[in-house]
Amino acid sequence: MASVTLKDVCKIYDNSVMAVKHVDLEIRDKEFMVLVGPSGCGKSTTLRMIAGLEEISLGTISIGDRIVNDVPPKDRDIAMVFQNYALYPHMTVYDNMAFALKLRGFSKEEIKKRVLEAAEILGITEYLERRPKALSGGQRQRVAVGRAIVRKPSVFLFDEPLSNLDAKMRVQMRTEIAKLHHRLDTTMIYVTHDQIEAMTMGTRICVMKDGIIQQIATPLEIYDNPANVFVAGFIGTPPANLIEGEFNIENGKLLFKSEKCSFRMPDEWISKLEAANAKQKVVFGIRPESLGSPEAERNPDAVRIKSKIDVVEPMGAETFLYLDKGFISRIDPHRSCKQGEEIELAMDQTKAHLFDAESGMRII
Ligand code: ADP
Repeated sequence: MASVTLKDVCKIYDNSVMAVKHVDLEIRDKEFMVLVGPSGCGKSTTLRMIAGLEEISLGTISIGDRIVNDVPPKDRDIAMVFQNYALYPHMTVYDNMAFALKLRGFSKEEIKKRVLEAAEILGITEYLERRPKALSGGQRQRVAVGRAIVRKPSVFLFDEPLSNLDAKMRVQMRTEIAKLHHRLDTTMIYVTHDQIEAMTMGTRICVMKDGIIQQIATPLEIYDNPANVFVAGFIGTPPANLIEGEFNIENGKLLFKSEKCSFRMPDEWISKLEAANAKQKVVFGIRPESLGSPEAERNPDAVRIKSKIDVVEPMGAETFLYLDKGFISRIDPHRSCKQGEEIELAMDQTKAHLFDAESGMRII
């Protein structure tokens, strides 16, 4: 069991690319921390520094109480699962899982006990005598996870482990890894570019962009209160509506105006905008489900937006509407609506946000 602490960690590659910039991150004991962000944001580099596969240019990384900057990977008490499972093709599943333990001089009995236990947990007992090429992608990924489990490390590191699997298998493995975390009760750090994996698996999520941490919080906190425009747009499918415009106060009323629409915003935001010394150019953010939701529609005082429906996307459990005012709405699939029709949708502005247009930071 161990916590992992990064203090002011930077990575500068030889080509002078600063891939990770002043990262401060504390991963608690037994936590499932997901590092998420678009390709090239520095998440793998961060994980590889924790693993000891990349040198740390600046700052310190500790596992438990021990600073590990100069500790070789094999002595860090970690195990890593990669995207390309890198199984030994000429070895059986059993030997693939046993290999690291043999190298470390474990007894035959202990190795057998650990391999059988891991195989049982992962449901691969019947494949132990097979070679990797006789397994499906999902089964190979299980073997790769099994290789990490048998080592009983303090910290598990996962680098995009599901990227090579088909969509259905990814969903299945996602729940299996979540269950595994529950069962093993150990610290796990998981890197992915997939925001759905981040939302569904993480105890907490660390969102990164351009080598910089944007926000660290629980999945729902990130969803409900994104720190900035980037996080609001990155987490959630369809993404949050982010409409650029300006606010004005007229006769004590707070108004928003963009190129395509204008509407009133809550009066109580005025004092918050004043306290924040907000500039006039802002981004109005609202999630698709807060536009046309049953609660909003029932509220006689809700602000309503009239627009033409450009596209209707029935998903079964819900329907997405793409509107000509630049909004996406997520509504009850049984509500009748057709492409080209005018529709009036109520906004739940208690769930809306305002961001500064220049810095992208959330004001409200
Ligand atoms: P992510 O995992 O978020 O996709 P990476 O951590 O792999 O991002 O990469 C972050 C940045 O560092 C990228 O700009 C990438 O091109 C660069 N980078 C990664 N590895 C190296 C390397 N070995 N040498 C130079 N630059 C690298």
